[in-house]
Amino acid sequence: MWSKTGPTHNYASSTYRRNRKAAMRRAKGLCEYCKVIEGRITAGAECDHITSIANGGTDDTDNLQILCGEHHWQKTCFEKQKGQTGWPDVVDWDTGWSTNPQERILAARSKS
Ligand SMILES: [Zn+2]
Repeated sequence: MWSKTGPTHNYASSTYRRNRKAAMRRAKGLCEYCKVIEGRITAGAECDHITSIANGGTDDTDNLQILCGEHHWQKTCFEKQKGQTGWPDVVDWDTGWSTNPQERILAARSKS
C-alpha cells in the first residue's frame, strides 16, 4: 500500500497482529531498550518496526521490537531526521566503546 509520502502500514492486518503478539511474548512484555541498554525493567506497551515501513521494513517478528512509550517516541523522532534510520550510537561507559543500541538489542535476543 503506497501513499504520496511512501508506504503506509496496515495495523489491522492479521500477520502484523499475530507477529506483534509473538514479539510481546519474546520480550516478556518489557521494553527491550530499557532492559538491554539501561538495565531497567519497564513495561513495554508499544510495538516498533526496527526497520521502519517507510524504509522498507516488514511485519516479520524479527523486525518487531517492544518498547516503552518514551523509547518508541525517541526512535521515531530520530527516524524523522534525514539519513537516520534508528537510534544513534551511544557510548558504553564501562568500556568506553561506542555501540549501536539496536545491534545490542538484537545481540541480546540471540543470547536468550
Ligand atoms: Zn524503554
